[in-house]
Amino acid sequence: MSLIGVADGDNFFAGTEQLLDARLRGKAVVVLSNNDGNVIARSKEAKLLGIKMTTPRHELAPLINAGTLIARSGCWPTYEVMSRRLVWSCSHFTPSLEEYSCDEVFMSMEHIDPRTADAYGQLIKKTVATWTGIRTSLGIGPTKTLAKAAIERAKQTTGVYAVTTPTEIDDLLATLSVEDVWGLGSRKSSWLKHQGITTAQAFANAPTWWIRQHLSVVSARTQLELRGQPAFPLITARATKQEILVSRAFGRPVTEVEQLREALSFYTARACEKLRAEHRCAGLISVHVATNPFRKREPQYSNSITIRLDRPTAYTPTILAAALGGLERIYRPYPFHRVGIALREFVAEDPAQGTLFAPHFPSARERQLMMTLDAICQRFGREAIRYLGTGFARPWASKGDYRSPRALTQWAEIPHVQVR
Ligand SMILES: [Mg+2]
Repeated sequence: MSLIGVADGDNFFAGTEQLLDARLRGKAVVVLSNNDGNVIARSKEAKLLGIKMTTPRHELAPLINAGTLIARSGCWPTYEVMSRRLVWSCSHFTPSLEEYSCDEVFMSMEHIDPRTADAYGQLIKKTVATWTGIRTSLGIGPTKTLAKAAIERAKQTTGVYAVTTPTEIDDLLATLSVEDVWGLGSRKSSWLKHQGITTAQAFANAPTWWIRQHLSVVSARTQLELRGQPAFPLITARATKQEILVSRAFGRPVTEVEQLREALSFYTARACEKLRAEHRCAGLISVHVATNPFRKREPQYSNSITIRLDRPTAYTPTILAAALGGLERIYRPYPFHRVGIALREFVAEDPAQGTLFAPHFPSARERQLMMTLDAICQRFGREAIRYLGTGFARPWASKGDYRSPRALTQWAEIPHVQVR
């Protein structure tokens, strides 16, 4: 029998905030989207307060001001580090795993005796907590969909739940609502409810031809999985990215071309760093600008331009010049809300692949320069050395008024602890 486990970080973003700042523990904490717009994550306590996802921040102001609720700006670099740690911890317990999302990992568990699955799950949960501080829930079952079903039960019990026998599976599916079946989605599950199918068990027992005819082939595979037959294999190799995109909404509308150039330079430098970290070169770039579509009374304008580079490169000054040239052509004096850059058409950064007359970097010297810059920034912080064009005051920068110290990615923001 195949056996698959899924580990899921509990309240991952809010939990990370609580983990890194002891003052937040036991408190109602919400994490806000870019520019502190809406709630995108809640601690257990915030959920108990009845705070809903996507609530706009201004609606929470009374609670925040009263000290009942603590809001934090989302701090993605920190969550990314915690995500790496979660995956790294899980990798000790399985021969192969799939990083499903930033806080969810599927693990092959074929190497263990199904009768010990619960105990094994508890061991993983305990070890991840000890090594990283991350609290997780674990679901274990013969297929990915059953593992996801088991985790729903795990969250209501001891944090670990394994289904390995037909009786256990049947019992779980009888109590699982059809909208909680992984992969069905709200549209399909509400249609199923209209047809009188309200539980996962009823869905599993429905005729397959009927599912295929009215829903989809994928839904029929979901059904197979609920019956214990694997139809969604683990995706262990990370798909290579087709695009590197860096785009942000401004903290306030930006009309001046100088400020747009600054912001675009800043994001381009960041995109190039990412590109080099993956040892690749880009052959195509595109620049986009947009006003705020929600401010309907203001004049609207959005545009983008795609530029093919003379040859694929990862040399920031070349890409920067092309990006700024593109901006010049699509710029109009509007109150802009966003600017961004996308890098595409990647080739491996291999000096041997460029031709003698058109290597990927203009010269070995310039390649060395980029590597040195990246190394310095990695060691001393992203802003240790930067392009003049990225500006100083940066009035356009995204808001992040409630951001926690970036204790995991910035030396200067490591908390100071006084030992008495
Ligand atoms: Mg989670």
